[in-house]
Amino acid sequence: MRTVYTEDHRLQDGKAELIDGKLQPCFEMPKRAEIIIERVRDQRLGEVVPPQEFGQDPIVRVHKPDFVEFLRVAWGDWVKAHGTWDALPLNWSAPGMRRIIPEAIDGRLSYYSFDAGTPITAGTWRAITQAANVALTGRQMVTAGERAVFALCRPPGHHAGSCFYGGYCFFNNAAIAAQGFRDSGAARVAVLDVDYHHGNGTQEIFYERADVLTTSIHADPKQEYPFFLGHADETGAGAGAGHHLNLPLRWGAKWDVYKPALETAMRRIRDYAPDAIVVSLGVDTFEEDPISKFKLKRDDYSRIGEMIAGAGKPTLFVMEGGYAVDALGVNVVNVLAGFEGAAKS
Ligand SMILES: [Zn+2]
Repeated sequence: MRTVYTEDHRLQDGKAELIDGKLQPCFEMPKRAEIIIERVRDQRLGEVVPPQEFGQDPIVRVHKPDFVEFLRVAWGDWVKAHGTWDALPLNWSAPGMRRIIPEAIDGRLSYYSFDAGTPITAGTWRAITQAANVALTGRQMVTAGERAVFALCRPPGHHAGSCFYGGYCFFNNAAIAAQGFRDSGAARVAVLDVDYHHGNGTQEIFYERADVLTTSIHADPKQEYPFFLGHADETGAGAGAGHHLNLPLRWGAKWDVYKPALETAMRRIRDYAPDAIVVSLGVDTFEEDPISKFKLKRDDYSRIGEMIAGAGKPTLFVMEGGYAVDALGVNVVNVLAGFEGAAKS
């Protein structure tokens, strides 16, 4: 399996995020992708290739143009107002307040975000456009006939919606790739999100569409971030009614409860008969993850890869979360090697 990767991800290197009541060093750090690419190379998973440039057109297929433009200019506007410390939002609009786009940069940060864990820095724009290019390059390789490709995106994307960022995510790389499959001839695309956290951005983007099935296995939003989406009764709306599946699991979930949930998701995906599958690959379900409360073990990731291969579809893996940095490379490559082993047999 080939991997798409660029060192430009390092340009997203925030100083601090607001977590546990404190400004602390960002869990979403460059080291994450470096550990993964090192393991990809050590294990000889396959060739590592750089991304191509796709420009903004495929990005505005899933994100609103004013949101994309905001991300493009945010750092420059922030520096003029406050200098070169990371840009973080200050407050959010509560029910009863009005959603009018403010002029001041602080107001626009608040308008377009949903948390204070996602700093905008000098390199953010380049890093996030390159992460989208990584996903789109992988998409193009799969469309051209490769059975599976690993898009090693960083920063991650699945919390980013059509017009908001948060949860370490700016552009929704998986959604951009899924739309890319549609725009290059796929009639139906399925997204499988196995990150520990609910893929609220992906759900929001495709919620009213029948041409992209979205499925997510994640920590119950009654217990876990992002809290306000991801319940089991959210099944799609309008034309998309019945085309979204949430499988929330309680804190402490081990393989014995995770496996049946993944079987349910894979059954739904097989019934949908997609032309391609996009996997939002988070491994923050790991028992040693510092910000998560599931209990999957290293070997469980091989099983996840095998089960995804069982669908027999062209598959694009898009990197999402995972913060137990030392184990990240092993767990991610276990999924990919598990897939390859099962796909060949
Ligand atoms: Zn996550």
